[in-house]
Amino acid sequence: MKMYCAQCDKDVEVIKKKEKKTYEVKDEIIDVTITRIYCAECNELIYDKKNEVNNDIIVYDEYRKIKGLLTSEEIRKIRSKYNISQKEMSQLLGFGEKTVTRYENGYIQDKSNDILMRLVDDKESFEQILKLSNNGKLVAKIKKLVFQNQNAVFTYSPTNKVTFKTAFEIGKGNEDICQVC
Ligand SMILES: [Zn+2]
Repeated sequence: MKMYCAQCDKDVEVIKKKEKKTYEVKDEIIDVTITRIYCAECNELIYDKKNEVNNDIIVYDEYRKIKGLLTSEEIRKIRSKYNISQKEMSQLLGFGEKTVTRYENGYIQDKSNDILMRLVDDKESFEQILKLSNNGKLVAKIKKLVFQNQNAVFTYSPTNKVTFKTAFEIGKGNEDICQVC
């Protein structure tokens, strides 16, 4: 893989090195292993935005684990469970539009937003939050996205009450209680 080295002023082969680092995040001392990229010719450190974002995620995720907060990956998993975008999840939870994007990129959430995101992880709570949303357009869009998700579908009963089932539960028939969960 070739990258631009400012020192050599050209595209060069690079070397990726794992480095143990200690960071101070708020009130915690965090020990992590991050990845740094060096020029194979002059050994100069090469700045790569994507790599730096990944390093940030490693550092902040470690802090979040210590504090019992959802990690970036856990947030992404909750969101992808419903097939919704970062913006849609932000809007659904009443956050600023870019908030979930920031959380998935490492920015540390506060406890109350952490609780809200955990609630969404639960399908019944997700339905409840959808019902509470006053944004009809957003709700329709989210329902459509969830419907497109191969692993999860919405079913509409005649009373217009929206029920949410996983493919697993549908396979099991009309049982309300999942034996695994
Ligand atoms: Zn170089």
